[in-house]
Amino acid sequence: MAKQFQAIRGMNDILPVESGLWRLIENTFHDILTVYDYREIRLPIVEKTELFKRSIGEVTDIVEKEMYTFSDRNGDSITLRPEGTAGCVRACIEHGLLHNQNQRLWYSGPMFRYEKPQKGRYRQFHQIGVEAYGMPGPDIDAELICISARLWQRLDISKSVTLQINSLGSNAARSAYREHLISYFTARYTEMDEESKRRLHTNPLRILDSKNPTMVALLSEAPSLIEHLDLESIEHFEILKTLLNGAGVRYKINPRLVRGLDYYCKTVFEWGTETLGAQGAVCAGGRYDGLVRQLSGKTVSGVGFAIGLERLVSMLADKQTSTGTMLGLHAYLIAVGDIANGHGLALAERLRDQLPDLRLRMNCSGGSFKSQFRRADNSGAQLALILGENEVYTGMVTVKLLRKVDGEQIRLPLDRVAEYLRIAIGTLSIATEI
Ligand code: ATP
Ligand code: MG
Repeated sequence: MAKQFQAIRGMNDILPVESGLWRLIENTFHDILTVYDYREIRLPIVEKTELFKRSIGEVTDIVEKEMYTFSDRNGDSITLRPEGTAGCVRACIEHGLLHNQNQRLWYSGPMFRYEKPQKGRYRQFHQIGVEAYGMPGPDIDAELICISARLWQRLDISKSVTLQINSLGSNAARSAYREHLISYFTARYTEMDEESKRRLHTNPLRILDSKNPTMVALLSEAPSLIEHLDLESIEHFEILKTLLNGAGVRYKINPRLVRGLDYYCKTVFEWGTETLGAQGAVCAGGRYDGLVRQLSGKTVSGVGFAIGLERLVSMLADKQTSTGTMLGLHAYLIAVGDIANGHGLALAERLRDQLPDLRLRMNCSGGSFKSQFRRADNSGAQLALILGENEVYTGMVTVKLLRKVDGEQIRLPLDRVAEYLRIAIGTLSIATEI
């Protein structure tokens, strides 16, 4: 027997039963971003490896062990993007979008990280990302958080997610704090797990992010970054909190909230849920004022966030709202016999010209009247349009209502079918949005 192929581990097919939910989330998000005046940017999926090393940071988990890196045929090292910010900044610099102007942008698409696949953690996953450039104040941080909050509200999951915020301070404040942390952890070296020991000198801030229960006591007594912030960052954080209060967005301050990428400073935030178990972060973001300078030499502020779509979909699927996105069929066209079949396609196309919103499925590849009728019934369509030899000769179409007991059956002249359906779908549309 021929070998059956399977998808690459950690890379999922999104099947039709689920894709409606994906589309719902994407459309909802698109609507919200449009009214906040954010514009879409479409970016390549591969970039030069160097871009990610320079932006995300050499000693982060992503760059050290999670990137899909290849040599192309020219021998250049390229990487499947593990996140969107680096490519977005690269594109904005390359096309002069940051020159004397602000930008509010969004993108969506697959990201790739070679992680251990488990629920909520995949090797190909999808993000919707939002980035804003050229605005150094906390008002834009607050706007981004409000956008995400509005998405939860529209998706009716506000009650299941909570917002944590923190400030990482300026780069200078963070390096001073880094030294405090190293001396604290060095003094209690024996209490640390292996992973944290490894991070002690490469990325000590990430130790704060450890989820290992054996580290809880050690972490709770660690010096807090918030106590080592510079004045400017303190003020930025205070204003952000005031703005969020004013907008009615509730948050918790988590002094140990850090991000796994090096470029963040000042504001960081994360929306999480209890409903997904260990992989509870559905949206994460923050400010990265140094990144544009690092990649181009020009000083331009940046702030953004990314939503993990798989996790959001699984939250919504758990709530079983997915059926709300399925639009049912209005009509199924049955055409029995070669002659009728020949007329069927022409009729279907004419109806589609006249009624662009008509959701019509045409029976293809024949079958007896009985088997076509069974398919019509299984399709969920509200009515069947029946074209047999007899109908063709008399220039008529039979219409049968499928969802009523003793469904009415009428015969209409061909040129009256569109008019009948126009009235019918007006009432059916509402009824068929399950
Ligand atoms: P985590 O702490 O869960 O590993 P992260 O800090 O690595 O997340 P970010 O790089 O901030 O994640 O990405 C933003 C969002 O993208 C996350 O909050 C999460 O929802 C999602 N995400 C990240 N990695 C994965 C993955 N491997 N599979 C599915 N979703 C992911
Ligand atoms: Mg991660």
